[in-house]
Amino acid sequence: MEDIAKEETLQLRNRHVGGACKLFFASDPLKIVRASGQYMYDEQGQQYLDCINNVCHVGHCHPDVVEAGYKQMQVLNTNSRYLHDTLVLLAKRLTETMPGKLSVVYFVNSGSEANDLAIRLAKHHTRGTEMLTLDHAYHGHVVSALEVSPYKLRQQVDDSHPPPDHVHWVSCPDVYRGKYRDRDYPGQDIGQLYANDVRDVIHKIKQDGKNVSFFIAESMQSCGGQIILPQGYLQSVYKYVREAGGVCIADEVQVGFGRVGSHFWAFQPQGVEPDIVTLGKPMGNGHPVAAVVTTQAISDSFRDSGMEYFNTYGGNPVSCSIAMAVLDVIEKEHLRQNALDVGQYWKAKVTELMSQFDIIGQVRGQGLFLGIDLVKDRETREPATEEANTVITRMKEEHILLSTDGPYSNVIKTKPPMCFSKNNVDHFMEKLTVILTEVTTQRTNTNVNSSQGVSNGLTGGNTDVINKDDGDINKNICTGRKSMKVH
Ligand code: PMP
Repeated sequence: MEDIAKEETLQLRNRHVGGACKLFFASDPLKIVRASGQYMYDEQGQQYLDCINNVCHVGHCHPDVVEAGYKQMQVLNTNSRYLHDTLVLLAKRLTETMPGKLSVVYFVNSGSEANDLAIRLAKHHTRGTEMLTLDHAYHGHVVSALEVSPYKLRQQVDDSHPPPDHVHWVSCPDVYRGKYRDRDYPGQDIGQLYANDVRDVIHKIKQDGKNVSFFIAESMQSCGGQIILPQGYLQSVYKYVREAGGVCIADEVQVGFGRVGSHFWAFQPQGVEPDIVTLGKPMGNGHPVAAVVTTQAISDSFRDSGMEYFNTYGGNPVSCSIAMAVLDVIEKEHLRQNALDVGQYWKAKVTELMSQFDIIGQVRGQGLFLGIDLVKDRETREPATEEANTVITRMKEEHILLSTDGPYSNVIKTKPPMCFSKNNVDHFMEKLTVILTEVTTQRTNTNVNSSQGVSNGLTGGNTDVINKDDGDINKNICTGRKSMKVH
């Protein structure tokens, strides 16, 4: 299945592909030539268990999805200025999965485009200028989305893209290692403590004579380190934002389409109804299709500006057929139930491992979205960044694909295709146990040796890479130039 040898592929990539586009496992990159279900295969035919691809949501190259695209390509592909049944039926079907007021859909091609359009909708509707985003959030690579992405802006080592003054970073509501930690506020409503910060920022905006446009947040924060928002947080925040005349945007680009298992959308367990929801990645199972869902009133404000919205590829019949097939497969194969069952099983298994390895500080997640927070010390919660890197590098050697995330890149992140099975979990657990034993033994030896004056760094395989979800491989951890601006 190779056109050229792996070495040549790498050379051509280095020569002709932009250096800002990074590879996973940069010192020993994988060449993947095909994939099926939850498995990927390299050029030698070696199988890898894919624990991180949330784009190929219903399984890599699912035959129903492939067939839907192939069939439609044989008949018609054109823009959305003609009437087409699949476009309207898909819009209807998507809105049926959401609260009643979210009844209008705009089709686009990527999560970044969806968030860019969401920002435009909010601006038109509210006329406000001020934007609120969570620290460590990522919402896309286009300029508008980048501006509300502290995750990216923190990585800059120069001043080429300064964080704009109209964007306000609010604390990420991480109850494990954020500003308000569970153990420091026993019995208190931590969600409300974090929400109070948002209320205070809004108060300051008003004092400065400005108006709020929107608050944007993922319904579970993936790039921030698999953060499960504390109960009640979004409810309070949405209330404050709306009282100030702003609208609330839920970014479901990573976490939507049933990944939480209990619901179709990750905002639903939070008991809120956003004003704008953005969809992407899983929607086309790898094919670029995305959408913005909003209310009639917000959509009307946008229309009333007089500016036509035209998107050449957004809502083309092929993309719509593919997205429809994805929805069919989620239903037909009961993938939401599978996410719930396998996710619970997985979380319980890793939690059990905590009694064996105190390097595991916390296990958090919902459905097939799990974060394993590795710490050097459970008491201080100091992030075990190098160890997390060693774990994912060693797991790759065992043919299991994972990534790390969070501001310290110490959180092992899983978000596999939704067909992931309990057998896959058992296999993952077997390898993880072996590798954590290695890592912790090595750490103990290192500590003993260094207390005896022997220098010995923890290595364990090629530990020069840190795999970030959106493709960043970066050692510049939490060096944010703008950390002062987090409220
Ligand atoms: N929002 C979130 C939460 C994301 O994770 C991403 C991609 N990692 C985007 C938006 C941007 O999506 P895309 O890469 O499809 O433009």
